[in-house]
Formats: sequence, structure tokens, C-alpha cells
Amino acid sequence: MKNDCIFCAIAAGEIPSFKVYEDDLVLAYLDINPFSKGHTLVIPKAHSTGLLETDDATLAAVIARVKKVAAHITAKLGCDGFNILQNNGEAAGQTVRHVHFHIIPRWAGDPLVFENHKGDMDALKALAEEIRL
Ligand code: 5GP
Ligand code: ZN
Repeated sequence: MKNDCIFCAIAAGEIPSFKVYEDDLVLAYLDINPFSKGHTLVIPKAHSTGLLETDDATLAAVIARVKKVAAHITAKLGCDGFNILQNNGEAAGQTVRHVHFHIIPRWAGDPLVFENHKGDMDALKALAEEIRL
């Protein structure tokens, strides 16, 4: 665990999150400022900064969980597709320096442009309970 890392603190349970899935290796939780309904972040519990700093075995395990959670969210929310987003470095828009994969549910014809909207905490709490795996 890295001391000043907000996602390490979430993984350790020191900062609350709207959990969607957890196992020994990864945690998945709702993004507090979602692009779309069900926007979920999947992180390895062990700290690394980005894709290039994460060992291959961890990445393989994490992407398998991304697939599992994305399939579950698709079934639960009835979305028509989803984007996987994974930012590396400030220039690429990475704001939290703990490697993470975004699962962004999409609906046919939705007008999504990639802008965060301020999350409603009560709605996020209820949604995490609804879609938890
Ligand atoms: P990045 O831009 O680094 O790829 O994505 C970081 C994401 O983390 C953003 O979409 C932001 O809304 C989300 N985020 C930042 N702080 C927190 C937090 O404390 N809790 C949760 N659930 N999401 C966060
Ligand atoms: Zn971390």
C-alpha cells in the first residue's frame, strides 16, 4: 500500500467506496463522477502506477476480472455495449496514479461525450447494491 494513494486507501477500506466486486486480487467500485450509469473502476489491490509498471501476471488477472464485471454489468443494466478506458500519465488524462480500468456502459444512440458528471451519492449507493456481483 502506498501512503498517499487514494485508491490504495479505498482498497484498504480506509476510504469508502460503492463496491461492485471484490476478490483477493482486485476491487471494482463505482466511479464517483461517472461518464454514464454504472461507470465502474477495476483496480488491483496492490499498488502500481500505470500499465507499464504493473507485472504481466497481475494485468492478466485484472483484465479477466474486467471481463467478468463488464459481463455482469451488461446483464444487470441491459446496456448495449461498453468502453474500456485505461489512462497512463497526466498527458493522457490519468488523474489517479494507481493503475485502473474504467468500464463505461453504453446505450445505442446515447449522447455520451467523455465528461464527468457530479455523482449523486445516494443514487450511486443504491446502484452499487443493485449491480453488485
Ligand atoms: P483517470 O482519469 O485517472 O483515468 O480516472 C480516475 C477516476 O477516478 C475519475 O473518473 C474520477 O472520477 C475517479 N475518482 C477519483 N477519486 C475517486 C474516489 O475517491 N472514489 C471513486 N469511487 N472514484 C474516484
Ligand atoms: Zn495505490
